[in-house]
Amino acid sequence: MYIVQIASECAPVIKAGGLGDVVYGLSRELEIRGHCVELILPKYDCMRYDHIWGLHDAYRNLSVPWYGGAINCSVYCGWVHGRVCFFIEPHSQDNFFNRGCYYGCDDDNMRFAFFSKAALEFLLQSNKRPDVIHCHDWQTGLVPVMLSEMYKYYGMEYQRACYTIHNFKHQGMGGVETLEATGLNRPEYYFQYDKLRDNFNPFAINFMKAGIVYSNAFTTVSPNHAWEASTSDVGCGLGHTLHLHRDKFRGVLNGIDYDFWNPKIDRYIPSHYSKDDFDKKFDNKKALQERLLLRQEDKPIVAYIGRLDNQKGVHLVHHAIYYALNKGAQFVLLGSATEPAINAKFQHEKQFLNNNPDVHLELGFNEELSHLIYAGADMIVVPSNYEPCGLTQMIGLKYGTVPIVRGVGGLVNTVFDRNYDENLPLEKRNGFVFYQSDNQALESAMSRAIDLWNYSPEEFRQLAIQGMEYDYSWNIPGGEYIEIYDWIRHKW
Ligand code: ADP
Repeated sequence: MYIVQIASECAPVIKAGGLGDVVYGLSRELEIRGHCVELILPKYDCMRYDHIWGLHDAYRNLSVPWYGGAINCSVYCGWVHGRVCFFIEPHSQDNFFNRGCYYGCDDDNMRFAFFSKAALEFLLQSNKRPDVIHCHDWQTGLVPVMLSEMYKYYGMEYQRACYTIHNFKHQGMGGVETLEATGLNRPEYYFQYDKLRDNFNPFAINFMKAGIVYSNAFTTVSPNHAWEASTSDVGCGLGHTLHLHRDKFRGVLNGIDYDFWNPKIDRYIPSHYSKDDFDKKFDNKKALQERLLLRQEDKPIVAYIGRLDNQKGVHLVHHAIYYALNKGAQFVLLGSATEPAINAKFQHEKQFLNNNPDVHLELGFNEELSHLIYAGADMIVVPSNYEPCGLTQMIGLKYGTVPIVRGVGGLVNTVFDRNYDENLPLEKRNGFVFYQSDNQALESAMSRAIDLWNYSPEEFRQLAIQGMEYDYSWNIPGGEYIEIYDWIRHKW
């Protein structure tokens, strides 16, 4: 099959979170299976150009219709760790992708509506006719709409759209001007409830709803999250739409790229190890303690890696630091906050704990350090309020770092409680799970983990090794996506 992915991120060149990892990892898996994959991305000024090989201009003068006029774009092509990527650079005063950030601008909806339009225009004008166009999250939710309402009539009749929702929280809203700009010219038609109109705001169109309604199949990133989104407020107002389109909806668990996340070959860690020589993990623990100036003592290290925002349960992350210290453990946090109040809170905490030799808070994004933490820590805590899939627990498992998670979303599909998961035999369990979003629940799981480390180290080690035996690579999800692609190609 010939598959084109249209997305706003692709790791490691453009990565704000899990979306980037997924776009890269899935593309790689599809290629390994013999399919031809190309990616279309925005050409941001702030992306990691050092991860692109052979960047050259591939298509000049791509004229993209916009507000009745047109914006001229250049399209660059380069390889990101083996994947063929096309980067779209618009030349206009809007400066859509030269903002020093990926997201967070007031006109994000217009930036990505333009990107969606430009991606389709590029396919059309360069005569690329993929079997499947796979687009991701609200940023590209208008792609299936434009494909089926416009580009189908320009010669892209046989292209099918798969749409993946990574986070229901951010849906992307627009108004009449978005329709006008993109050339979706009949507002009264698109503003119908069964088309793009937001389920609650009658004056807004909803990009994510658009992707759901118009795609040939759509997915979210774990089976449990698909169920939660359809049946609870986790769907953030899209529950009814999901219900109406349930026949083409599926939860496919994300994978992780074991070429990149693998303690056997990880180039960012000083000592390579696997479940057969697990003790070498300890060298990484020492290296982590040295690098972060932690006390060199034999204490368990609990880690948190991730964005610091309400989705991630920041109040529990904060509590986890003090609870770990109280229990005689060390704590390492690597996180970035975009909300000023949360950032200020953790900056304050960092200063307050500055002289404590058992804790280190690293505020910011640091890919290299994250690898050392996964390898050096003993436990990783993921206390999310909601978690569509969650990658950090899966990476933790691969590195023999025992996850302590809240039982929501994809965490339920990947972590199985050592003491209480009666559906699995003891030798298949791999972590600790709690359910309520309060301090006591977190403490109960953390204390079970820390006590096991302290009082039954052999059993703790065994639990960590059991986690390493799980296969959360792209192998299984890659196959599931191919099934979906096949289905939409033959059904429609
Ligand atoms: P998200 O909701 O952000 O997509 P995921 O758990 O799905 O959360 O994916 C998070 C990814 O981003 C993981 O690969 C994790 O290692 C990485 N990550 C998150 N925060 C940081 C950070 N501050 N520095 C380095 N890597 C980070």
